[in-house]
Amino acid sequence: MKRRFFIAALGAAAVTPAIFTKISAREAGNESTSSAKIVRSDEDWRQLLTETEYDVLRNEGTERPGSSPLNAEKRAGTYVCAGCEQPLFLSDTKYESGTGWPSFFAPIDGALGTKTDYKLIWPRTEYHCSRCGGHQGHIFKDGPEPTGLRYCNNGVALKFVPAEGDS
Ligand SMILES: [Zn+2]
Repeated sequence: MKRRFFIAALGAAAVTPAIFTKISAREAGNESTSSAKIVRSDEDWRQLLTETEYDVLRNEGTERPGSSPLNAEKRAGTYVCAGCEQPLFLSDTKYESGTGWPSFFAPIDGALGTKTDYKLIWPRTEYHCSRCGGHQGHIFKDGPEPTGLRYCNNGVALKFVPAEGDS
């Protein structure tokens, strides 16, 4: 009995590092994106990300306001997911919200999924990368035109890729 359990456990351990499981966009359901999903085990994410990145992306943590160098980033370019590098925002949708978090008024089409979160008791709209599921921030309705929305993003969950010729 013990021996059988041991062998079963070994088998499970060998299968678990299925690091890279791709699911087609159609199978993935309502989050519309053409890119295949990235599914990693919690252990793999811990290895791949820094502690702060892990806390925000995989644990829906919130970075300290004003802590991200991306607050001051003004160059033309693309903001990609720090977990999987899917492009999430373009620099021309970024604006200074004064909150201490990088803020955008619109994402790239299909780049984000959303859900309602009740962490602060009242409901907020959480959003995450549609490819790896990594938490990015929350949407508020006090943004500028044309959308009137503020995508309040954790800077640590993003990486900035300057446009060619603007580095
Ligand atoms: Zn991602």
